[in-house]
Amino acid sequence: MIDKALLAQKLTEQITLTETKIAGFEEMSAPVTPDDAIGRVSRMDAINNKAVQEAALAKAREKLTKLKVMQANLDDPKLGLCKRCGRPIPMGRLVLMPESSLCVRCSR
Ligand SMILES: [Zn+2]
Repeated sequence: MIDKALLAQKLTEQITLTETKIAGFEEMSAPVTPDDAIGRVSRMDAINNKAVQEAALAKAREKLTKLKVMQANLDDPKLGLCKRCGRPIPMGRLVLMPESSLCVRCSR
């Protein structure tokens, strides 16, 4: 059985966390003005960092979308069942990754 109250709590926690993360990434990836000397960081490093940040930002946004879909579907009777095979997703997995809609086997 799915502990809906616990899952709802985890979703809220993760949504807040992910939103904070996204805000942080957006701040970091704000356009650099010409006056902002890159300093000791080489230009290549700056470019690499930006690519890494953008990838992390895209991932965080994707996670946030999934979390919100999950939150909107809390009353769905199929909640906690794998979208692919229909088997229950273990509560332990949902607590760690409340955005998961596939069981461990199907997500591989
Ligand atoms: Zn499955």
